[in-house]
Parts: sequence; C-alpha cells; structure tokens
Amino acid sequence: MRPEILNPLFRPVTSLSGIGPKIGEALRRLLVGGDGPEPRIVDLLFHLPVALIDRRRQPGIAKAAEGSIVTLKVRVDRHAPPPRGNRRIPYRVYAHDDTGEIALTFFHANADWLKKTLPVGDTLYVSGRMDWFNGRPNMVHPDYIVPADDFAALPLIEPIYPMTAGLSRRVLMRAIGEALDDLPDLPEWHDPEIVAANRWPPFAEAMARAHSPEGEADLDPMSTLIREHQRRSAGRARAGDGRLRQTLIAALPFRLTPSQTVALAEIEADLARPERMLRLLQGDVGSGKTVVALLAAANVVEAGGQAAIMAPTELLVRQHARTIAPLADAAGIRAAVLTGREKGRDRETVLAGLADGSIDLLIGTHALFQAGVAFRDLALVVVDEQHRFGVHQRLALTAKGGAADVLVMTATPIPRTLVLTYYGDMDVSRLTDKPAGRQPIETRALPLARLDEVVGRVRAAIAGGAKAYWVCPLVEESEALDLAAAEERAATLTAALGPTVGLVHGRMRGAERDRVMTRFLSGEINVLVATTVIEVGVDVADATIMVIEHAERFGLAQLHQLRGRVGRGTRPSACLLLYKPPLGAVAKRRLAVMRETNDGFRIAEEDLKLRGGGEVLGTRQSGTPGFRVARIDHHGALMEAARDDARRLMETEPDLGGRRGSALRVLLYLFGRDEAIRLLRAG
Ligand code: ADP
Ligand code: MG
Repeated sequence: MRPEILNPLFRPVTSLSGIGPKIGEALRRLLVGGDGPEPRIVDLLFHLPVALIDRRRQPGIAKAAEGSIVTLKVRVDRHAPPPRGNRRIPYRVYAHDDTGEIALTFFHANADWLKKTLPVGDTLYVSGRMDWFNGRPNMVHPDYIVPADDFAALPLIEPIYPMTAGLSRRVLMRAIGEALDDLPDLPEWHDPEIVAANRWPPFAEAMARAHSPEGEADLDPMSTLIREHQRRSAGRARAGDGRLRQTLIAALPFRLTPSQTVALAEIEADLARPERMLRLLQGDVGSGKTVVALLAAANVVEAGGQAAIMAPTELLVRQHARTIAPLADAAGIRAAVLTGREKGRDRETVLAGLADGSIDLLIGTHALFQAGVAFRDLALVVVDEQHRFGVHQRLALTAKGGAADVLVMTATPIPRTLVLTYYGDMDVSRLTDKPAGRQPIETRALPLARLDEVVGRVRAAIAGGAKAYWVCPLVEESEALDLAAAEERAATLTAALGPTVGLVHGRMRGAERDRVMTRFLSGEINVLVATTVIEVGVDVADATIMVIEHAERFGLAQLHQLRGRVGRGTRPSACLLLYKPPLGAVAKRRLAVMRETNDGFRIAEEDLKLRGGGEVLGTRQSGTPGFRVARIDHHGALMEAARDDARRLMETEPDLGGRRGSALRVLLYLFGRDEAIRLLRAG
C-alpha cells in the first residue's frame, strides 16, 4: 500500500488546474512517451531543467556580443513598419541607449500590439538574443519587453526544459509550479549525519530549487561539490622559465596555431597563480590538444614539478606516448608510461621513478591513480577526453595530486549554454582554428544497397596509397552479434581488396589491438575495420577515407568524432555514411547536418536542438536508464555512498521497521520501487 502522504503526487497531471485532455496528451508524450501510462504529478516533478538562460548581463547595446543573451535598457525612438502589402519585410522599432542604436525586428508583426508595447519616447527593458545584422545591432523578437519600472517582471534566470509540440513553456512552468506548491513535507529518509555533513535541504526544498535554479550549481549539485572541494584547496604558483618549452617548440615539425598559442598563455598564467588551476580545453578532433598538454607539462617540469597525462584507453596512452616521447627526449623531459599492462619489474621501476622524482612526466590510463602510485611532487594533471572518466576517478586523481593544477581536455564541442552545466565554473580555453594545411572532408550519405560502389572507391583510394577506416557499430544488447557483423565485413573486404584488411574491436586484448593498429600506421595494411573503439583520439595522419556503416544508428556527436579521424593530413579526405533505409526524421536530419558542416561547435548546437537539450555528452540528461535523475558519469560517488548506506541499513534494520525505515518506504514508493517493498515483505 502506498503511504497516504504520497497520494497527492500520484494523481494524474490532468487534475492540475488548466490541464485539459489536449495538454494532458502533450504531457504524456513529454513525460512518459506517446504510448506510456497516464502521467502523474510525480512525473512532472521529475521533469527537470537541462540548462539555464541567464539574462543578467546588461552590457549596453554597443558591447553586446553576437549571439549572446542580453538585457538592454533602451529608449524607443521610432517605428518603421513594412511597406503596405509587403509582409516579407519585417517591422522594425529603433531604440537607443548611451552606447548606440538597436533595431528590434519583428516578422509578421501585429502593428497595434507593437505600438502599445513599445510606445515612442518610453524607456523599457528588452531581453533576448543579440544578433548583429550587417554589422548593426539588432534583436529579432525579444523574449521579453517590460517597462523600465517593472524590472522585477523579467525572469533573470530562466530554466530550460525539454519540450514537446503542443505545449508552451508557460503552461509547463505553471503546472510544475502548482505541483511544487502541493508537494507535502516528506519524512527525511537520509541518515541524519549525512544530511548534516552535506547540508542537504529537505526533499521539497531540493525539488523547488532544482526547478528554480539560481545558478548552474543548482542544476548539478554534484559538480558544485567537486568544484568547492577543488577550489578550497589552494594551489601553488609554478612559474617555469620557458627553457624546456622553447626547446620543445623548436623541435615541433609545425608552428602552433593562434588558438594553441592563446590557450598556452592562459594555462601559463593559471600555473603562475597561487590558486589551483581548473581549466577546460575544448577543441575539435584534430585541433591539436596533445601538444598544448605537453607544453603545459613542460612548464611545471621547468619549475621542478611532475605532470601526469591521463587518457581513457590503453590505445590512446600508447599513441600519446609515441607522439610525446621523441619531443620529450629532445627537451630532456623524462617520460614514462603506466597502464594496467605494466607489470612486475617494469611497474616497480616506474613507481620508483615517480616517487623519487626521476620521472617528470607520466602518461597513463586510470591505473595512474590506483593505490601504490605515489608522486614526489605532482603539479599538473591533464585529463584527456574527459567525459569518458567518471567523477570519482577524477576526484581520486586530483586527491593524489594534493594541490595539483588540473587541465581537462575534451573533443566534445559543448555548446556554451551547457559548458557550465557539465563542467561547473571551470575556466575555458577553446581551440577554434585547425592546424594549417588541413583539407576539407567531403561527406556523402548512401544507402547500404550501394555498398559495391563504396568498396570500389576504397579500392581505388588504397591503390593510390591511401588508408581507410571502416566502422561497424556495436550495439550493446548484442555485442556478440555485432562482433560477428564486423568480422564478416572484414572477411568480405579481404575477399574484395586482398590481404590488406585488419580488424580491431573492443573485445580484443590491448596488446593484440595495438599490433593491428601498428600495422595500419606503418602501412602494412590499408583498411582498418573497427567497432567504435577508434572513436576517441586515434591519430593516423594519412588515413583519408572513413566509411561508417549503419550511420543512422550513431548520434551526431559520435559521427562527428568518427569523421574527425580523417582529414588530418594534407590530402583531401572523404567520409561515406552508409545507412539502412528508411530513415527516421531525426536520423535524416543528422545525416544532413553532417553533410552541411564540419564545424564541431555548430554540430553540437544542432545536436542540442535535435535532442531537445540533454544528451550532448551522449548520456541521457534525465538520468542513466533505470534512474530518475542520477547519471552514472556525474553521480558515481553519490551512488556508491547510497549503496553503502543501503547495505548498512539492511544489516541493522532489515525489515525497515523503525523510523528511518518507514521514511525509506516513502522514498521507495516515490520512485516507483514498490516492487522492492514487496520483496522486502516476502523476504
Ligand atoms: P586532438 O585535439 O584531436 O587531440 P591531436 O593533438 O591528436 O588532436 O593533433 C592532431 C594532429 O595534428 C597531430 O598529428 C599533431 O601532431 C598535429 N598538430 C597539432 N598542432 C599542429 C599545428 N599547429 N600545426 C600542424 N599540425 C599540428
Ligand atoms: Mg586527442
């Protein structure tokens, strides 16, 4: 039986005022899926914002940056309606502030409404996206227009919810507001000590805060915890003298791009400050993040410290090591590798070198922060392809570093609006320009039926000395089946192209996989069939063809990452997206976006639109499957704590009979775990 106190939350959403059957249907689609059960108020409560619009910035017209959301206090000068009968020309209202003039632009405008809302001579606030049109300040359809004395009516911070057709923001927010008002005071189910230690608010307050965030922190409490933990610990100033860095730069076979230079200057400034560095380096695949990491490492080594570069896979570690070793040698930086594969004597040697400081730079997987690894003076931790690591892994590593500065690198171009949500208030550097001499990538989408054509193209390319990747997707439900598909593809390609085809997949052992990769690098084989193990980071500069089979199964971010494996050398490259018809609307749009642009930041924005907000990092915003809110990648530490707590409780209070037990029953019902309660009864 459901605890009575929860009854109001389990009423259908249509019992809220103003929610009729039509909006009820839209809410069903949004909250539980089109053919889901009737959505209840509790489903509405757990529909959480995924981002914020921050309207607090008031830079003045002339200083408002293109594309930014701003609030401007302006005086209305004149109205310029379109010529009669010409509806394609917009209605413009000109206004000014101390810094300049702006055109407020309205398409298909209602002239009467505009005259009433924007009277000439009035001073008012407008808020919306800044859009410089032909070099002139412009704002199309401001989100808000309020009189100067009614500033309070502007929502300075607005939560953004995933939406669906047939539902307006206003209606959704009103319904959520009503649901929050009705939220009963539930008994505290957490251990009182944990609540006190973390200063967690009661459930009702936490829900209210999650829906009316006052800052990014409220959207993602976990990243705040980490941030505070890291910020509190002061860092150490490490000012290198530039000696090693100069040697390294001289040894590079290329010149740094302008954005690499800027990023390095930013990092150097951070390192020289006594506060701890917490910086995110964002750059598309191939934008050259590794060399930035190496030069940052050189800086702390100059100052007598040690640096660690952590990559998510063995493969990437080996690759970094290959790139870095000769450069490090040239500069006299002593580098070593540590992964799960270093065992016995090798491992002992590395550990000793780290402890006595004879190793300056360690490149490794998460084996880096296992027990037994101790640095003499770890000054900088670089985390590559960071979204692959869980929060607790990052924490463990930085804990090891004491006051170590942290540089996190990601190739996932996260839209500005979401950077804060995912990374807290890290400082951000961006690599926006590609290294010189890069060729554009021609992208085409073809149905699987044209496979022969694609094979022909690969044949011609390898005859000319090129290399090709051929990616087969791995679907988790059936790893074995997909592996079979990849093996079969490798076999058919070998039959068609001769013994020049290799296969790598996630089930392979590290050493075996590296062997195949090395043969591909050296040109012994020219076609590499792969499951998505090549997704992150691999760098084979003379690979010019990327075939992605079943491209319709991949997300935009993933497609973009994969495509980034080619187009790294000086020869033109091609990306062939093989799909199985018929394509759904979203898949069709994804492939179209891939054909239209190679700009990672634009692709991320499109991705955000297609997903309606939450999945930019390839994880569902609304929680890892099976969870309402939690995400394994963000909340690993909390999940562990909860599991430990549950275990302890089952030892002391197995029947949930006491006071905390009955509060926990409320919790279980609230999250639809009635099943668990029945099991408890039975057991
Ligand atoms: P990512 O940002 O994807 O990690 P990498 O660091 O692997 O990119 O760099 C991709 C390739 O570009 C590497 O072969 C690297 O040596 C090369 N590279 C990096 N910076 C430059 C540059 N300024 N000019 C030319 N090539 C560069
Ligand atoms: Mg990389």
